[in-house]
Amino acid sequence: MIGAIDVRDLVGRPGVWRSEQVTGTIDDLETELAGLPADTPVTADLILESLAEGILASGRLRGVLSLRCARCLKGFQEELTVEVHELFAPFPHEDSDEYPLEPDGFLDPDQMIRDLVGVELPFAPVCRPDCRGLCGRCGGDLNLGECTCTEPDIDPRWAGLGELFEALHRSESGAGQIDENRPERSSER
Ligand SMILES: [Zn+2]
Ligand SMILES: [Zn+2]
Repeated sequence: MIGAIDVRDLVGRPGVWRSEQVTGTIDDLETELAGLPADTPVTADLILESLAEGILASGRLRGVLSLRCARCLKGFQEELTVEVHELFAPFPHEDSDEYPLEPDGFLDPDQMIRDLVGVELPFAPVCRPDCRGLCGRCGGDLNLGECTCTEPDIDPRWAGLGELFEALHRSESGAGQIDENRPERSSER
């Protein structure tokens, strides 16, 4: 949790501004595959500017996302930077995305940070663009060559026999006629 910022020096003084850096953790901000670890702080570098309408907070958030690859399930981390440009108003308009400025002259950035980071959490993080994921049969990590069910090398002299077995099996299971001219089997992956 990031504590509220005392902005009594800014409230009611339009045009006055100052910078403020706050750091803290945000709890329970995670989805199945992405989150902000509860023990990893987020830092907000903000310019707080007094306006007639309230206090404008602009700047950026920096943190580290804890992610799990949607393909291979490996955990990894990724730096996060989010631009901030939000108004804190004493009386936020109901259908606006303004945040409430507390009546005693404090600005609590927690909800804003939660919202801004929340929309940055990816639904399907990938550890690297060419991640090959896990084998659907054995569960081995294809990136690491862990798959134990790749088709064994067949002695070319027996390959024809293997195909015949397969064709017979398919006709037995009612999968259709044996087609001598069927195209090469495409790779299963
Ligand atoms: Zn991966
Ligand atoms: Zn496998």
